[in-house]
Amino acid sequence: MKQVKNLTKKERRAIPRQEMTERHPKQRATYFEEVSLGYSLIEAQYEAARCIQCKDPACVKGCPVGINIPGFLDQILNQNLEGAIDTVWDATALPAICGRVCPQEIQCEEVCIVKNEKTGKPAVGIGNLEMYIADWARVNGVKPKIDIAKSTGKKVAVVGSGPAGITVAGELAKKGHKVTIFEALHKAGGVLLYGIPEFRLSKDIVAHELKQLDDLGVEIKLNSVVGRTYDIDELLEEYGYDAAFIAVGAGTPNFLGIAGEDLTGVFSANEYLTRASLMRASEFPYYDTPIIPGKNVVILGAGNVAMDSARTALRLGAESVTVVYRRTKEQSPALAKEIHHAEEEGVKFEFLTSPLEFIGRNDGKLAGLSCQIMELGEPDESGRSKPIAIEGKHKYIDCDLAIISIGTSANPLLTNVTKGLELNEWGNIKADPKTGKTTKDKVWAGGDITLGQATVILAMGMGKDSAKAIHEYLITI
Ligand SMILES: Cc1cc2nc3c(=O)[nH]c(=O)nc-3n(C[C@H](O)[C@H](O)[C@H](O)COP(=O)(O)OP(=O)(O)OC[C@H]3O[C@@H](n4cnc5c(N)ncnc54)[C@H](O)[C@@H]3O)c2cc1C
Ligand code: SF4
Repeated sequence: MKQVKNLTKKERRAIPRQEMTERHPKQRATYFEEVSLGYSLIEAQYEAARCIQCKDPACVKGCPVGINIPGFLDQILNQNLEGAIDTVWDATALPAICGRVCPQEIQCEEVCIVKNEKTGKPAVGIGNLEMYIADWARVNGVKPKIDIAKSTGKKVAVVGSGPAGITVAGELAKKGHKVTIFEALHKAGGVLLYGIPEFRLSKDIVAHELKQLDDLGVEIKLNSVVGRTYDIDELLEEYGYDAAFIAVGAGTPNFLGIAGEDLTGVFSANEYLTRASLMRASEFPYYDTPIIPGKNVVILGAGNVAMDSARTALRLGAESVTVVYRRTKEQSPALAKEIHHAEEEGVKFEFLTSPLEFIGRNDGKLAGLSCQIMELGEPDESGRSKPIAIEGKHKYIDCDLAIISIGTSANPLLTNVTKGLELNEWGNIKADPKTGKTTKDKVWAGGDITLGQATVILAMGMGKDSAKAIHEYLITI
């Protein structure tokens, strides 16, 4: 049989997209194991062979950290797997995470030249290949070559250990600066650990990629709430840090502001997912974290966090899970892949349905949700058709657990007590989009605390840019 790398251009163009094998939807909805089972080498080579090696690759421009995509795809095709992972590591320290959770369909794969909407030809599976090569390195004990510059004697405080903080810390440590991460929680990783559920991103993978920070000599101080345990001025003036990077995310849940939100059984997605993931309620009886499993569960909102909540509720034993959203399926903010996975697993959807009031029982527990039925009207300022209420048309949904998942906002705990830090109207830190420099001397910021709720790769991209700017500053003082 002809080797994949020897196929003609025509033969390569005819290869269908290699989809990763996934666990059966009905089975996987009963446990937390990862849904995707990954590629074999031959599947990865076939997928990599679909890339036509563009001279001016649009995919690289679509990637917020600029991975040399055709480069690592060609290396996979030619079975130079060490070369492929080195190419990826040149641009990102977290490829196993990015391969799994990056919204590739609206980034690199969106602009891949192979994608043809008219013929229905899908883009090259760049995200799947990134996941493949990162998993290959992990399983085979291949580590990034660490090249740490001579110590500069400069100290940097990073606040928050999510993707923005991790990236800044790693990049600055490589430049020879002494970096300490201050993390409020008892474990590092940010949303990667306490938000995104195990069935999409195994915590072992997060721990493995975080281990690189140890190898770079980055110190992580857990249970350290900056703004309470320390404040930024103290770190800079009393503890001798030369610069600080704030990456505290945007973890304050938004609520609907409707009656009954205080009933027992109404959770924010943040709290629900934190209990299930970080506090391991999903591992009862080994972990005795209180959580309401819910028999009939409603999810309010239709973004990626809503899909995570819905699928977690199924895995915790719910008999029915219904996503309630006031707009249509096409207008849902969740990625198509996430909605598809939720549907496959049995999550139901009530589109054009807007929550009106939570109804309680006499004992203060949630009994149901009353809703208003909507229809699409004229486009609003965003260009999307606006949902409007159909007078007199209501719906009642029985439920004993409701999970509100309508986005999050900046947490004011640190920003309120830090003098000289300007905020925008939503409470996010104002920072130069290219460098992350804030209005406060010696202080940079990045990730969700500046962008609002965004993505892992955007937080990492900002972390990289800020690390460059902080390094340039440090070598001049
Ligand atoms: C459930 C869920 C699913 C998601 N799914 C995806 C996805 O599939 N793909 C994707 O790209 N994005 C996803 N996102 C968004 C993504 O996770 C975030 O955009 C990203 O994690 C932001 O990174 P960050 O470093 O800015 O902050 P975070 O990841 O939020 O990390 C901030 C860290 O700072 C710590 N902290 C906060 N305040 C303080 C303080 N005062 N002192 C010390 N430490 C502090 C927090 O404990 C936390 O560890 C999801 C988000 C959620 C909630
Ligand atoms: S745009 Fe698509 S085909 Fe072109 S180099 Fe990137 S992955 Fe390959």
